[in-house]
Amino acid sequence: MVIPCYNEEEILPIISVKLKAKLSLLIEQGLIHEASKVYFIDDGSIDDTWLTISSLVEEGGPFVGVRLTRNFGHQYALYAGLMQADGDALISLDADLQDDIDVIEEMIQLYLEGNEIVYGVRENRESDSLFKKWTAISHYRISALLGVNTVQDHADYRLLSRRAVKMLGQYRETNIYLRGVIPLLGLKSSKVYYTRHARVAGESKYNLKSMFSLSVKGVTSFSIMPLRIITLLGFLVFIISLIMGGWALTAAIGGDTAIAGWASTVIPIYLFGGIQLLALGVAGEYIGKTYIEVKNRPLYLIDEICRNDIQVEQKSDN
Ligand code: UDP
Ligand code: MG
Repeated sequence: MVIPCYNEEEILPIISVKLKAKLSLLIEQGLIHEASKVYFIDDGSIDDTWLTISSLVEEGGPFVGVRLTRNFGHQYALYAGLMQADGDALISLDADLQDDIDVIEEMIQLYLEGNEIVYGVRENRESDSLFKKWTAISHYRISALLGVNTVQDHADYRLLSRRAVKMLGQYRETNIYLRGVIPLLGLKSSKVYYTRHARVAGESKYNLKSMFSLSVKGVTSFSIMPLRIITLLGFLVFIISLIMGGWALTAAIGGDTAIAGWASTVIPIYLFGGIQLLALGVAGEYIGKTYIEVKNRPLYLIDEICRNDIQVEQKSDN
């Protein structure tokens, strides 16, 4: 299990007990290996989170601590954890245990049935505040509208196979948005449903600003639709100015409603406004392309190699 922690000193003593019990239970059921661990990633906390983690490790529990040099943010802490942790499968979850750990059995079962990604999907948000609900719903709606392909109502509670983690490691983009990248791996996946609990202790580390920035990151690193909208807008204004020009011309020729100087003043404003927006949009289109290119994403991922000299079984490699 991989758990990013930012100022979670209050919560760690509570969840470490729960997680340890969970691991023992899973080992007893024969679902996981005895050496299975919980990785706590300290994302540059400014309270005693690291002290708490290190003492948990020293006490001999099934824990591993990883400390980042500074606060990188949830997505990066999680990514760091996924890259650091070993094991055949990794489950990522939040320190506050808002995500129900009782569906882990089901997740592992689905993994054993051959799914490489198992998404934890929230069935309801009763424990969330109205504000949180509203921001979350807008986030998913707007992202979907702008062409970002994410799993609805799934945050970062998921199981990844070793192979999925390796593939994820090939994505070198600096603006990593895990929720968007993981569906792109194209591996066999499944979902488990759970009810989201209230935070066990402490406060949410996401404020409006960080939620907004996550949303913007999600959109801008997965779609160049906003740039397209500018192009479209420019085109629209351009067409409107053409219609206006035509109208002014017919008015001037045919009737006496024309005001002197109106057409020559107003029409260029719209015309050039339109052309400028259009040009901006086109330039943006190229910037968008460059942006996608610069990220240097892998174009394909090899599943299996078939050759006739040595048959290499590629279970976890690619
Ligand atoms: N977190 C982190 N770095 C940050 C902010 C949050 O590692 O800069 C961790 C936090 O400790 C928690 C998880 O990310 O384990 C989710 O944060 P939180 O529960 O505050 O978010 P919410 O559930 O309110 O969206
Ligand atoms: Mg939370």
